[in-house]
Amino acid sequence: MPRPARHSTTPAGCRPVKITFGELREMGLSGVVIWCADYRCGHWVAVSADAWPDHMRLSDIEERFVCSACGMRGADVRPDWSTEGRPAPWRLGDRAT
Ligand SMILES: [Zn+2]
Repeated sequence: MPRPARHSTTPAGCRPVKITFGELREMGLSGVVIWCADYRCGHWVAVSADAWPDHMRLSDIEERFVCSACGMRGADVRPDWSTEGRPAPWRLGDRAT
């Protein structure tokens, strides 16, 4: 019986390996964008990364979020490149529904 293929931790073309918040800050970024796991919803919010310690990965916090728009559990946390070189901003981005 053939062994099943190991689950890849880096599915190609799916979601990138998530960095730690320490690495995020090393890149000069100070915030993250939290997207609803449901792409059809598209709800997102930009927050400061200050609340999370350096050793945590962006992917570590994803499942903690529940979308305030559609109730979907889980999220996609990505570096907020718009914060590059800027001190921690507190911005809220919210698409009109
Ligand atoms: Zn949603």
